[in-house]
Amino acid sequence: MRCLLPLLLLLVAASVAKAADFAARFDDLVRTATPRQLYALLYDLPKGGDLHNHAGGSDRPEWMFEILTDPARNGGDAFYTRARFGPETEPAARYRLIRRRTYEQLAPAARAGYVPLADLSPAERIAWANAFRLDAPGEGRDEFFNVIWPRRGDLSQNLDARLELLVVNLQAFAAEGLAYLETQFGLDGLVTPDGRALTPAEAAPLIERRLAQPDVVATGVVVRFQDTVIRFRPDAEARLSEIYAFVAAHRDRWVGINMAGIESDPRGRPLRFLSTLRRLRAQHPTLSLSFHAGEMDGADSHVRDTLLLGASRLGHAVNLIKDPDTLLLLQQQQRVLVEINLISNRLLGYVPDLTQHPFPEYLRTGVPVCLNTDDRGMWDSNLTDEYFTAVTTYRLSWPEVVQLGRNSLARAFVQPEVKAKLLAAYETRIAAFEQKYGAGSPTISDALGKVEKVKPVTYGYAKRTWGLEFR
Ligand SMILES: [Zn+2]
Repeated sequence: MRCLLPLLLLLVAASVAKAADFAARFDDLVRTATPRQLYALLYDLPKGGDLHNHAGGSDRPEWMFEILTDPARNGGDAFYTRARFGPETEPAARYRLIRRRTYEQLAPAARAGYVPLADLSPAERIAWANAFRLDAPGEGRDEFFNVIWPRRGDLSQNLDARLELLVVNLQAFAAEGLAYLETQFGLDGLVTPDGRALTPAEAAPLIERRLAQPDVVATGVVVRFQDTVIRFRPDAEARLSEIYAFVAAHRDRWVGINMAGIESDPRGRPLRFLSTLRRLRAQHPTLSLSFHAGEMDGADSHVRDTLLLGASRLGHAVNLIKDPDTLLLLQQQQRVLVEINLISNRLLGYVPDLTQHPFPEYLRTGVPVCLNTDDRGMWDSNLTDEYFTAVTTYRLSWPEVVQLGRNSLARAFVQPEVKAKLLAAYETRIAAFEQKYGAGSPTISDALGKVEKVKPVTYGYAKRTWGLEFR
C-alpha cells in the first residue's frame, strides 16, 4: 500500500489539473454558446443522482395517456376521466382519473360525467394533459397540492401502470445522463384491476420482476426507492411505524424514508414524530431519513427540528437561510445534504424569483447540496432544466457543476458497494466529457460543433421559460 500511495496521489493531482484546465474552457463555453447550445451541452453533461423525486409527480401526462389506454401496460385495466363537468364541479374533480372498477360502481348519473380516456377528442386530450401540470399563469401551490395530485385518483392503486411510468421516466433520465434515481415510491392502497388488495410485501417481488426486464437494465440507471409518510394525516405515526418496518425488511430496493405533504399544515409539524422515531430507532438497525423541511415562506424551526428527528438529508430547506444558527451548524458539520429543487420552488411560489434563492449561498458556504427534479412531470421539465437554471442564474463554475453531481452520489442512500461503483463511473464520465469538449476540441468552435450533434429532449417548461424547443 505504501508504495502505491505516491502513484495514487499523482493520479488525483493529474485529474485535478485536468479539471482545472477544463474550468477555463467551461467558462468560455458558457460565455460563447447560444442558449440553445448551452442547453445541449448541459443535456450531454453526465449527471449523478436525482435524490428528490416523487414517482407520481414525475409522470408526464403524455406518458400517462399512453400507458393508461394500453391494457398490455396497465395490467388489463381501463381508465376513465371526468371530462364532462360544469362550473360547479370542484377543480380537483375535473379530469380526475378513475379505473374501470370504480366506474362500474358509479350510479348512472355520475357515470355520465366520465369518458374512457381513450375516447377523448384531440382537444379534450390536450385539456386533460394540461390539467396535470403547472403550465398556466396563476397556477401554483394550491393547484399543485389540492388539485393536480388528487386528480391522479385511482392511478395510485395500479401497480402495473405505475411501474411502466417509472420505466419511461428511467429511459428519459438515462437520455440526459442520469446515473441514479432514488424515487419516492410508496405502496399504500394498491388494488388489482379485479379489486383485490395488494399488500406491500406482495408488491415487492412484482416490482423486482419488472425492474429486471431488459428495457430497464438497458437504461443503465440504478434505481432505489424511499417510502413516504404523508405528515399531516391523523394516522401518520402508525403509518410511519408500518413503513419503517417494511423498509427495514426490504433494504435492497428501499433505502430510506421520507416525510412529505404541505409543510405549512401545522398537523404535520416535525416534532410530532420525534417520539415515534426514537422508539423505531430502538427497534431497528439504522435507516436513512430524508425529510422535506423548510419548504416554507417564513422563518421557523422546521429545519432544526428535522435534524433532531435524525434526517441526514433535507428536501428544499428554503428557509434555512432565515435560521442563522442552524445554517452555521450545517456549514460546520457538512453531515447533512440539502436537496435543492429550483423549478419546484419557483413554480410553487416559495422562491418566485430564483435570483433570490439561497442555493448559491449554501453551495458556496460549505453546505452540501445537489440539484433535483422533485415533480418533473407536473413542472413539465427535466433535470437538464435544473442545471440550465443553475448555470445561467448563478454562474456556476465547472468544479461547482461537478461537485453537485458528486454530492448527489456521495449522499445517496444506496448500498455502499453500489455507491462506490457509481462514484467511480461518474469520475470516468466527467473525464470523458472534459476530454470531448476540452482537450479533444482544440478550439471553442470545435467544441460547439460537437454540441450541435447533441439531441436534447425538451418539454414545455424549457419552451415557456427560455423559448427552447428541440425536436
Ligand atoms: Zn418533494
